[in-house]
Amino acid sequence: MIGGVAAGMSFAARARRLSEEVEITILERGSDISFANCGLPFHIGGEIKSRDVLAQHTPESFRNLFNLDVRTEHNAVQIDRKNKRVLVANRSSASQEWLSYDKLMLAPGARPTVPIIPGVHDPAVFTLRTLGDMDRIIAASGSGKRVIVVGGGYIGIELIEQLHKKGLEVTLVQLHTHLLPQFDSHVVLPLQAELDRHGIKAWYANYLTSIEREGDELHGHLSTGEVLTADFVIFSIGVRPESELARDAGLVLAHTGHVVVNEFMQTSDPDIYAAGDVVQTRKRHFGQPIAISLAGPASRQARVAADHIFLDHLARPYPGDIGTSIVRFFDMVAAVTGWTEGALIESRRSYETVTVHENHHSGFYPGAELLTLKLLWEPETGMILGAQVTGREGVDKRIDVLATAVIGKMTIDDLCHLELAYTPPFGIVRDVINIAGFAATSIRDGLVQVVYDVPEDPHTQFLDVRPRPLASKYPLEGAINIPLSSLRQNLDALDKNRSVTVVCQLGKTSYFAARVLTQNGFDAVSFAGGVRGFKGGAKGIVPRSAPIQESGKEFPGLLPDNL
Ligand code: FAD
Repeated sequence: MIGGVAAGMSFAARARRLSEEVEITILERGSDISFANCGLPFHIGGEIKSRDVLAQHTPESFRNLFNLDVRTEHNAVQIDRKNKRVLVANRSSASQEWLSYDKLMLAPGARPTVPIIPGVHDPAVFTLRTLGDMDRIIAASGSGKRVIVVGGGYIGIELIEQLHKKGLEVTLVQLHTHLLPQFDSHVVLPLQAELDRHGIKAWYANYLTSIEREGDELHGHLSTGEVLTADFVIFSIGVRPESELARDAGLVLAHTGHVVVNEFMQTSDPDIYAAGDVVQTRKRHFGQPIAISLAGPASRQARVAADHIFLDHLARPYPGDIGTSIVRFFDMVAAVTGWTEGALIESRRSYETVTVHENHHSGFYPGAELLTLKLLWEPETGMILGAQVTGREGVDKRIDVLATAVIGKMTIDDLCHLELAYTPPFGIVRDVINIAGFAATSIRDGLVQVVYDVPEDPHTQFLDVRPRPLASKYPLEGAINIPLSSLRQNLDALDKNRSVTVVCQLGKTSYFAARVLTQNGFDAVSFAGGVRGFKGGAKGIVPRSAPIQESGKEFPGLLPDNL
């Protein structure tokens, strides 16, 4: 086995459970095995206090537990497929030896990407993958220091939060126009608002072109010309598969450099298996190639490989990935599963989408927090393709239910009647997932038409159905305010010969109002997502790209959950 962390150790442990006879040798280039890399950012910030909990295993403990020959500081440098052997360099003794195999497992993972720019090799420029990397960042991050974090993906934003909480002055440089490119842009607006709330400067659509040292300071030159000054820089701009060994051995690689495997994690050489960050698998729905850098898939793929070697016909194929993931950023949580709208557009697949809001537990029970759920489904079948959820509480539960729904090929009709546990402290009578099902089926059944843009056509009437105090405090330019409660009595105020776009705070009341209007002969559409998507209450802003103005929490009256 090459690589002794997530995929590697999962493989080894499963292999040993399946065979007491087999000889298992693990080659790990680093000095640690099976450490919790997902926990590294949290120890940097002190949220995980003890370093020891991240590295609970040693070669000895694995030897005792699983009878494994674990060789740390051993680098696999060549695979000789013809003679079924691997050349190993012992980094401690600087010696080399050939080790024979019957089956070879590749779990070398992926290394952090670093751009080729001047100054990138400065000792105060870091990446985060190993415990050693973590120690170096901790040593550099005294309170009051300035740091540039390059990359606003999962690891980048976890680092930003931890370093900010430690008292550092953090600046983000992000190539994309938004945080977390794994999400649709408008979904992560609440997380971007967290950056602003904590006074963290973010440079979007930007990258470092060079890093220059001047005494104790580093100057990071931005692509837009500005210069940022910091004590150190961390790159978290993604990872590249460590597939050089596989490539040199002639195994088939994807154009991304990932090792191509079949459904039993066999490479193009049936005696060589691979799993984890180094491989390319298939998407569960529609089978497109996908490379996922996540711990769960790595561990489960490795188990499939071990089963295929030792269980023969009992081995079950790896079903593919959907990319379920979750991240916390200060008080906000964002999670995604399956296809995003961006990915669907890119692969030219037809889809429908709706965004709904609901409290994570009953509004009348203390501590209710608003959840936002974006659902995507296939128009022809209603099959759920993906979902994204943000909020302060309860995001993890919803995304896991939705991941199960995606994997189970459930439909929007299934979501309507998903029976989820409810008592006020834990849920709500009609969960946000049910609401998403109701909204989606209402759209499918033609009961409501939703739009995502504010009407530009002057012929269209723009109707705001929020309660009067709210509408007066946060007026919408060009909108007529008739609260839903008085709409039926005031239909005469609207012109039946002109279409109506109805807006409310969260997109639910506008749907109710659109139903009233269409049944009274109006051509009415509901503005998806409500005022939450508007910028500063101004008309004409495309809500999908606009920051959030108000949290629905401030207007609890608009969030009836006791219907
Ligand atoms: P790795 O865990 O990278 O292990 C590969 C090992 O192989 C390395 O130790 C390397 O030294 C060794 N190796 C490589 N080449 C050789 C060679 N030639 N000879 C010998 N040894 C070699 N995932 C999540 O799902 N949730 C999270 O919250 C999360 N947070 C993360 C936070 C951080 C800071 C990092 C770095 C990753 C995080 N991940 C997270 C991703 C997750 O850790 C990886 O997807 C997972 O570890 C991949 O497992 P792997 O075994 O393929 O590779």
